[in-house]
This record gives sequence, structure tokens and C-alpha cells, in this order.
Amino acid sequence: MADTIFGRIIRKEIPARIEHEDDLCLAFHDVAPQAPVHVLVIPKRPIPSLAQVEADDAGLLGHLVVVATQLARKLGLADGYRLVVNCGRDGGQSVDHLHVHLLGGRALGWPPG
Ligand code: AMP
Repeated sequence: MADTIFGRIIRKEIPARIEHEDDLCLAFHDVAPQAPVHVLVIPKRPIPSLAQVEADDAGLLGHLVVVATQLARKLGLADGYRLVVNCGRDGGQSVDHLHVHLLGGRALGWPPG
């Protein structure tokens, strides 16, 4: 797959405010936050989107969600938060490297636009 800006962040070629890193994933603050807390959790393996996920990826996807919940606790989102994965053009995905948005710190509207 083509390299993306997130690949460059993983390789530390460009800076990011990193909150968490382990063998499987990296979590960093979104450069254009849509809420007081807006963190992206991304796999180090560059899966382009949910459309390319396979059954073997279940553990990795579960790990991304668990890390996001741990960060929600660490970042004080006791009143709640939202995890979002945009997929494809209609889903509003703009970076072709799968990522989980962790949004919180204010009451979030529903439904999304
Ligand atoms: P999506 O629209 O779901 O693909 O989300 C991509 C997200 O990546 C957007 O919220 C962008 O603000 C964010 N983003 C793009 N470039 C960077 C960057 N260099 N550092 C941090 N976040 C970024």
C-alpha cells in the first residue's frame, strides 16, 4: 500500500504528541482536534481501512480498542467518550491508514453529520 503521513509519524520522520506506543500500535493527539481530547490510535501495520480488515486482524483491532479505553481513563474522560473509525470516502476517511479516533471532554452530538 502507499505510504501515508501516519507511516511517517510511526517512523518518527515527523513529530506528533505521542500518548502511547507499543509493539502493535501508536497513539497520538490529532493535529486538528474536534474535541478537548482527540487522540488517534493506529496500528503500526499499515492496514488502509476497515475495508481491508480480515479475520486474522481481530486481535489487533481489539488491541486498538483496549488501548483507546485505557487512554480514555488516563486522559480523564470519566463522563464518557466516543470511538470512531471512518471508512472510505462516504465514511469521511481522509488518511488511508486505519485509525481509531478517541473523542471526549465535551458532550458530543448525535447523529454525526
Ligand atoms: P479521518 O478523516 O478519519 O481519516 O481522520 C484523519 C485524521 O488525521 C484527521 O482528524 C486529521 O486532523 C488527522 N491528522 C492528519 N495529519 C495529522 C498529523 N500530522 N498529526 C496528527 N493528526 C493528523
